[in-house]
Amino acid sequence: MDCVFCKIAEGEIPSATIYEDKDFRVVLDIGPASFGHALVLPKRHYANIYELPEEIVSSAFVLAKKTAVAIKEGLHADGMNILQNNGEQAGQSVFHFHIHVIPRYQGDQVGLVWTPG
Ligand code: 5GP
Repeated sequence: MDCVFCKIAEGEIPSATIYEDKDFRVVLDIGPASFGHALVLPKRHYANIYELPEEIVSSAFVLAKKTAVAIKEGLHADGMNILQNNGEQAGQSVFHFHIHVIPRYQGDQVGLVWTPG
């Protein structure tokens, strides 16, 4: 299968890795929405959340939470968006499950696909 996130997660394509264990890699997004925008990638390929086994759902979101805390503290972010797209209609462009961790800063102009209100 030709999946760019499989290759990144396995280290076959270089990435700015901020965390790695046997199941996950956390990397900086190549086209960041804000400074410090990170992606939590499982090493095994699942196209989206529908395919993700529940034990991976849990550990992926725990890791997203830990990543958010580290980024908040390290980069002094004022806020944090955690988001996860499934399907083209929802804005998914890479069909390997991932969680976005997007730090927000006072006065930034990050345009997300959907904003509340
Ligand atoms: P999606 O639109 O699928 O929710 O998010 C895909 C994300 O992957 C985008 O934010 C995009 O910038 C990022 N991305 C795409 N290709 C690469 C790559 O080769 N390396 C890294 N680090 N991020 C990528």
